[in-house]
Amino acid sequence: MTVVDLGLYALLFFAVACGFFLGRRYSRGQESPARSQHYYRGLNYLLNEQADSAVDKFIETLEVTPDTLETHLALGNMMRRKGEVDRAIKVHQNLIARPGLNTGQLHIAQLELARDFIKAGLLDRAEGLLQELVEMASALKVTCLELLVDIYRDEREWEKAIHAVTLIVGHRWKKVPAKWGVIQAHFCCELAELALAQNDFLSARRYLKQGLAYDKNSVRASLLWGGLECRLSRYNEALKILNRVGAQDSDYIPEIIGLICECYDALGDQVGLVQHLQKILEEFPSNSLVLAVADRLGQMEGDLIAAEFIGSELKLRPSIKGLSRLLELHLEHAVGGAKENLSILKQLVDQLLGLRFAYSCHRCGFKGNDLHWLCPSCKSWSSIKPIRGIEGE
Ligand SMILES: [Zn+2]
Repeated sequence: MTVVDLGLYALLFFAVACGFFLGRRYSRGQESPARSQHYYRGLNYLLNEQADSAVDKFIETLEVTPDTLETHLALGNMMRRKGEVDRAIKVHQNLIARPGLNTGQLHIAQLELARDFIKAGLLDRAEGLLQELVEMASALKVTCLELLVDIYRDEREWEKAIHAVTLIVGHRWKKVPAKWGVIQAHFCCELAELALAQNDFLSARRYLKQGLAYDKNSVRASLLWGGLECRLSRYNEALKILNRVGAQDSDYIPEIIGLICECYDALGDQVGLVQHLQKILEEFPSNSLVLAVADRLGQMEGDLIAAEFIGSELKLRPSIKGLSRLLELHLEHAVGGAKENLSILKQLVDQLLGLRFAYSCHRCGFKGNDLHWLCPSCKSWSSIKPIRGIEGE
């Protein structure tokens, strides 16, 4: 069944409900034949698939009462899901303008109108409506705050977002879902990044500490903090902070390699760097680590040693990236026909690598070559990770 079919079934349900109420009223002598004509005209529009006119007729015909509220809401929400936001707004505004609903029902209609505004991109109007509901509608407070958090996230108003989550968590003091800690930590990291962009290291460090207090496993906070200390030439402190990432979430180990190399390069300690990388590799194997160790071994001891190292690692963990680097090392020393064949093989392997993405979202399957902390597709935090296996890490 397609979405359009579902929509038409919903409208048919609406038509039946409309007919039922009108029929009941008409049998009591309370409705005019003209009103009944509106209903049949609406049904006619529907059967002719003129949904726009049908909705107008139904809004005009069906009274707003506590009994018909669900039908109005269902119609408005269906319009929003179909992307007909203007029409959804019309249905919900019609509900709010009519007398006959109690306060709780009115608040539900206002909440749906706020959702319409969000869908229409009218975030200021949605924010205003939701803020009013947070004050007035205690039963809907958490739902409204969750929508506000999404608005502040999209508008990058991180302080407001943190405050809204604090109200949610405070509201649910008996059982705080762990996801809010993760989200708060990301908001703090966003603030830290803004501070770092202005070289405000004190504020950045404060936000990162706050982020780690919300979520002690925040890899993003550790990466930013390690980078901050590195910028301040506090290399040993940076390395200490980066070492936490393995315990926080080892899937992100490839992300710390660049900073670790930067620290050891600044300290002028290549032997220490190789030992450090090899130690991490033993505990948290990844193809990027193998390549980093091989590169440094190659610089210190030559291509043959680097090739031997990659070869031994490939036996343990087959990897296309490792194979590409191995071919590159052999190519530099090959001659004649062997060089030509290796070159063809290298091109094929690199073409294969070029078709692969580096990161994917474990929630929605989004793939890309950049590490997004917020998935651009499903809007989940920390759901995008480096792809592992023979074609990835
Ligand atoms: Zn996603």
